[in-house]
Amino acid sequence: MKFGGSSVAGAERIKRVARRIARERAAGSNLVVVVSAMGDTTDELLALAAAITDDPDTRELDVLLATGEQQSSTLVSMALHALSVPAISLTGAQAGITTDGTYGKARIAGVAPARIRAELDAGKVVIVAGFQGQSAKALELAETTTLGRGGSDTTAVALAAALEADRCQIFTDVKGVYTADPRIAPDARQLPVIGYEEMMELAHQGAQVMQVRAVELGWVNDVVIEVLSSFEDAPGTLIKEDPLVEQRNKVRGLAHDRNVAKITLVGVPDKPGVAQGVFGPLADAGVVVDVIVQNVGHGGTTDISFTIPRVELAKAKRILEPIVRELGFSDMTTDSSVAKVSIIGAGIQNAPGYAARMFGTLASVGINIEMISTSEIRITTLIAEDRVEEAVRALHAAFALEQPEAVEAAAAG
Ligand code: ASP
Ligand code: MG
Repeated sequence: MKFGGSSVAGAERIKRVARRIARERAAGSNLVVVVSAMGDTTDELLALAAAITDDPDTRELDVLLATGEQQSSTLVSMALHALSVPAISLTGAQAGITTDGTYGKARIAGVAPARIRAELDAGKVVIVAGFQGQSAKALELAETTTLGRGGSDTTAVALAAALEADRCQIFTDVKGVYTADPRIAPDARQLPVIGYEEMMELAHQGAQVMQVRAVELGWVNDVVIEVLSSFEDAPGTLIKEDPLVEQRNKVRGLAHDRNVAKITLVGVPDKPGVAQGVFGPLADAGVVVDVIVQNVGHGGTTDISFTIPRVELAKAKRILEPIVRELGFSDMTTDSSVAKVSIIGAGIQNAPGYAARMFGTLASVGINIEMISTSEIRITTLIAEDRVEEAVRALHAAFALEQPEAVEAAAAG
């Protein structure tokens, strides 16, 4: 069971979480619980560091951030003790999570859950501080590292895989995975089941329910994940291998993402090596480039447009300005008032016509498409940010996402 930051924000919520855990244990489960830091703790710790220096040491920052999850894990353990449930909190390192040692965005290198197993055998509920692990070095050299924002999801899935858990439940402040953001599309429907690949695309394209890497890890290790509300007792959404994938004939969900900026390089010399000269340095600096469009060349030059996360625009401009001069481009323009809207569904690979319907729907409400990218199960459009909500509602209606697929309805009996 993993509880997110909003589920453990404050003493009352922690006590409620403890009651939920106690109920589950009384029903006969052996439980490992992973917690995020309370509420906005991680942001507050980051702000505190930023108030000290604008360039905090990455090692110290990770030690600092890891304390957020350590706080909540101890408090949940105490709340269980108060209910007479035997429990123990463990840091990520004590739980046996080792990482590749990259500060701020470490990847899990291994999980050695001997201590967890021993505590379970002793009849305890084990509460693990999420979002952290220890670099795989000799003990006296081992370093605390964090797994990137939202990393407690990854902790939970990695532990579920290592312990061969029956299920990995992600308790959060929404009831599950929806066909679109219900705050924008009022008739958005909660999905009972979604396949790993579809969930990864949704998460990648902006749905904020789960960290992308956690879904990926679940997919690789075949962990059945359930996303459900920590405030209500209702079935959530299961993320698992989708047996109906071949029969899918509908779009499953929409995602939108406002953390996008567009960069256009104008008058780029049309010759080999230029794209590498632009994208190589961005990659070296860790800037993830997403949608890329290069126009057909005219008179020896061409234009290249691409998108990056909006939060990295300043960094990208800093990197590109000298390159623009060196390689003799005529101009670089940027636009941070754009957003991505995507339709996702395994059905997209099974039948034609999705792109036409998507573009036609956007045209019918007068929304201009600036860029397009696709995968086998996804079509993404880049549009003006101030039209996003309208686009989501129009597409939700056009693809009748409020209605279950025929195969789903049949499977549900
Ligand atoms: N506390 C960390 C964050 O806010 C990790 C997590 O919540 O999963 O990103
Ligand atoms: Mg969080």
